[in-house]
Amino acid sequence: SVAEHAALLKSLPVDGLHIDLVRAPEQLDAFADYDKVLSAGVIDGRNIWRANLNKVLETVEPLQAKLGDRLWISSSCSLLHTPFDLSVEEKLKANKPDLYSWLAFTLQKTQELRVLKAALNEGRDSVAEELAASQAAADSRANSSEIHRADVAKRLADLPANADQRKSPFADRIKAQQAWLNLPLLPTTNIGSFPQTTEIRQARAAFKKGELSAADYEAAMKKEIALVVEEQEKLDLDVLVHGEAERNDMVEYFGELLSGFAFTQYGWVQSYGSRCVKPPIIFGDVSRPEAMTVAWSTYAQSLTKRPMKGMLTGPVTILQWSFVRNDIPRSTVCKQIALALNDEVLDLEKAGIKVIQIDEPAIREGLPLKRADWDAYLNWAGESFRLSSTGCEDSTQIHTHMCYSEFNDILPAIAAMDADVITIETSRSDMELLTAFSEFKYPNDIGPGVYDIHSPRVPTEAEVEHLLRKAIEVVPVERLWVNPDCGLKTRGWKETLEQLQVMMNVTHKLRAELAK
Ligand code: GLN
Ligand code: ZN
Repeated sequence: SVAEHAALLKSLPVDGLHIDLVRAPEQLDAFADYDKVLSAGVIDGRNIWRANLNKVLETVEPLQAKLGDRLWISSSCSLLHTPFDLSVEEKLKANKPDLYSWLAFTLQKTQELRVLKAALNEGRDSVAEELAASQAAADSRANSSEIHRADVAKRLADLPANADQRKSPFADRIKAQQAWLNLPLLPTTNIGSFPQTTEIRQARAAFKKGELSAADYEAAMKKEIALVVEEQEKLDLDVLVHGEAERNDMVEYFGELLSGFAFTQYGWVQSYGSRCVKPPIIFGDVSRPEAMTVAWSTYAQSLTKRPMKGMLTGPVTILQWSFVRNDIPRSTVCKQIALALNDEVLDLEKAGIKVIQIDEPAIREGLPLKRADWDAYLNWAGESFRLSSTGCEDSTQIHTHMCYSEFNDILPAIAAMDADVITIETSRSDMELLTAFSEFKYPNDIGPGVYDIHSPRVPTEAEVEHLLRKAIEVVPVERLWVNPDCGLKTRGWKETLEQLQVMMNVTHKLRAELAK
């Protein structure tokens, strides 16, 4: 909403204004007396849902009566954020015809505008068929049993007030964790992924095409996991990861295994620069039909005596990087995802995986533009993370990971997530981010990244030592972990092993020094 700036905007020497009436329909009032062209953004440009055109007409018909020729209609914002054409999604159309009928991509959105225009200029009767189809889709969506599930709603409604709290405070938990983990000072770990090599991607493509059997694919991925475990042992890392070879993408992987999600074949949108993503569609109530990662993690654990870290993508990140249903609040969708992930956390724990990382790189980017809206968002985002990570024993260690973000102004919210360990990307900023954590007196364990994973360049020991010494200056050494900035999936094996070796050499050197 730009309602608070309405006086200024109305005084601008322009011939017209466009306002977003999807995100902020309430701002219309502030522009009711505007005397130039008013472009009403009534078709959602940020999402893939088909509009209920009858409902839109209820807003724009009175506007037309008032503004006449001065009324324009448009999408709420640029259509950059939506995929181009729904009609090429043949699989969706065949497998999920209802869902298909509820969607509109860019081309379909422009057609919706055409129907609205005809309804306004020539009367609703002139497009009766189109309006009826739009109404039918809206009705079927509102009542679909594929979307609305009583068990999911009940589970959320019945949550006890303390469902998002661990059993004990961090000070007690960390003792229970250290008792069995028995880690050295400056424990070392990885953020999750190891190189996603061409062979891994080829195996996955062949599996998807049916050229590789499920058993052969599983065997190929297990071989990769075994290699990742072996290399980490050779390097003497303390808390190991399985390497995430089996994951196409950190959100898509989970979306494919959760119910309430659907996928497109060609629904690409720009992420940044020339990078594009194909976000999942969260269309219905979310639940987890069966374990998603337990078999891979327990296989990895079976190969080593060292602790194996389970690896999940967090609820806020899954939400942020998907197209989300617009018929219930985002916070509700997020909590549903959180509970589904919590099922996985508890299954991992039961299977003996007692260090579990829940990645939340998208927490910061979900922050609303307006400060007044920050607290509400941070409250439900934090609650969702905690809901996903509670219910386990004090001795189970929950990690989270965030990539590089401006954390300074949201540190209380990060601390309120109450992860036992947070790993963050800090190397390129020369540990500058860490100063904020230290000034805030961030209470739990922290693993600041000690080298940049975006580059194949192998850092010198002096560089890594410089960063680690800086970290030791600002974080109590007993709270400090050592790890790369982020996952290693975009790296090659050669530099990965060399980079990790440098990290380990420096860690061993500083440990020896601290022991004195
Ligand atoms: N666990 C993920 C990985 O290692 C984290 C990626 C991310 O932070 N974006 O690839
Ligand atoms: Zn990261």
